[in-house]
Amino acid sequence: MSEYDPNNIFAKILRGEIPNKKIYEDAYVLAFHDVFPKKKVHALVIPKGAYKNMTHAGEKASDAELVALLRAVPKIVDLLGIKDSGYRVITNIGKDGGQEVPHLHLHILGGEPVGHMVE
Ligand code: AMP
Repeated sequence: MSEYDPNNIFAKILRGEIPNKKIYEDAYVLAFHDVFPKKKVHALVIPKGAYKNMTHAGEKASDAELVALLRAVPKIVDLLGIKDSGYRVITNIGKDGGQEVPHLHLHILGGEPVGHMVE
C-alpha cells in the first residue's frame, strides 16, 4: 500500500490550513459538513490519525482510535437531527471503491430517503 499523503485535503483541514463547517470534535475525531452535499444532510467523519482508508486504519489504528470513530457516529447524528429518521454510513476505499480523498472518512447521508444502496 502506498504511503499516507499528508497533503490531502482532509489532512489540511485537520491542521487548520483550510476551513470546515464543523459539527463535532473530540480527541480522536472531527466531523464536518461535506462541501458538495449529495443529500439534505451529508456529513463527513474523519479520524485525527493519519490513515488512508478503512483498510489502513483497520490494520494500523489503535483500538481507542477505532472505537472513537464508531462512538462518535450516534453523537453526530443526534447533533444533525437524523438519529431517529435514519441515515446511511458509507466509506469508499481505493480505486474501485471510488475514494477521492485519501484520508479515511465516513459519509453520513440522511435528512431524506437515501435511495438504493448501490446504483
Ligand atoms: P470520497 O469520494 O469518498 O473520497 O469523498 C470525498 C468527499 O469529500 C466528497 O463527497 C467531497 O464533496 C468532499 N470534500 C472534498 N473537499 C472537501 C472540503 N474541503 N470540505 C468538505 N468536504 C469536501
